[in-house]
Formats: sequence, C-alpha cells, structure tokens
Amino acid sequence: MAGEPQADCLFCKIVAGEVPATIVRETETTVAFRDINPQAPTHVLIIPKVHHPDAAALAAAEPQVVADIMREAREVAAGDGVEDTGYRVVFNTGSGAGQTVFHAHLHVLGGRGLQWPPG
Ligand code: 5GP
Repeated sequence: MAGEPQADCLFCKIVAGEVPATIVRETETTVAFRDINPQAPTHVLIIPKVHHPDAAALAAAEPQVVADIMREAREVAAGDGVEDTGYRVVFNTGSGAGQTVFHAHLHVLGGRGLQWPPG
C-alpha cells in the first residue's frame, strides 16, 4: 500500500535502523543522513519516513511532508554552515534524471562552488 514500508527498499531500511547511516537530523516525518558517495563537502539526503517512489508521488499523496523536507533542508544547510554561502536542493525524479533509489529523497549539496546547468 502507498506509504507503507517496502521490504526491498534501502531507504525504508535506513528509516527502520536496519541499514546503518550517518544520521544528521530526524523529525516525526523525515530522516536526514549523509550520502554514502558525497558529491560535495555537504551532501545530505532528506527522506520521508513513509515510502513513496519519488517526489511526485510523495507530493500527490502527502504534500505536507514535502514541506517538512524543504524545512529540514534549511536546517541541514544551517547545521553544516552552508546556508549563507549557498546550497542546492535536488529531487532526481525518474531514472532518466538520474534517480537510482526509488524512495523519494532530496539531495542537499553545498560547501563548494556548484555549476549550472548540472550534468
Ligand atoms: P539518486 O541517484 O536516486 O537521486 O540518489 C541516490 C543517492 O543515494 C546517491 O547519491 C547514492 O550515493 C546514495 N546512496 C545509495 N546507497 C546508499 C546507502 O546505502 N547509504 C547512503 N547513506 N547513501 C546511499
């Protein structure tokens, strides 16, 4: 059922504490943890505790949780000291956009100069 934990989902396992991760912050609805393969000095993933395959599905089903994630992005940036220098938030949505883990997640990237357009 939409929103329920999925047995084969890596990020559901991180939410459940079954797969270790470097947790940065946790709220009632979200978990933020460091990306295992960081692309910038700050590279944190913020995920909903509920399972939805991507940001579009999450936004359709539980828009308030998208707002929670965006609020957390600012807290993560502030905690890492990159709020003032600038940071980027990205929801890769679909494999064509580079999504590889199909549990919605927001990338928070900062701590170095970031180019535009992204690759
Ligand atoms: P996507 O490509 O789906 O937008 O992002 C998935 C991200 O999850 C990638 O940046 C990847 O490095 C990260 N990732 C994949 N497996 C793990 C893991 O086991 N632990 C952590 N912390 N990050 C992971």
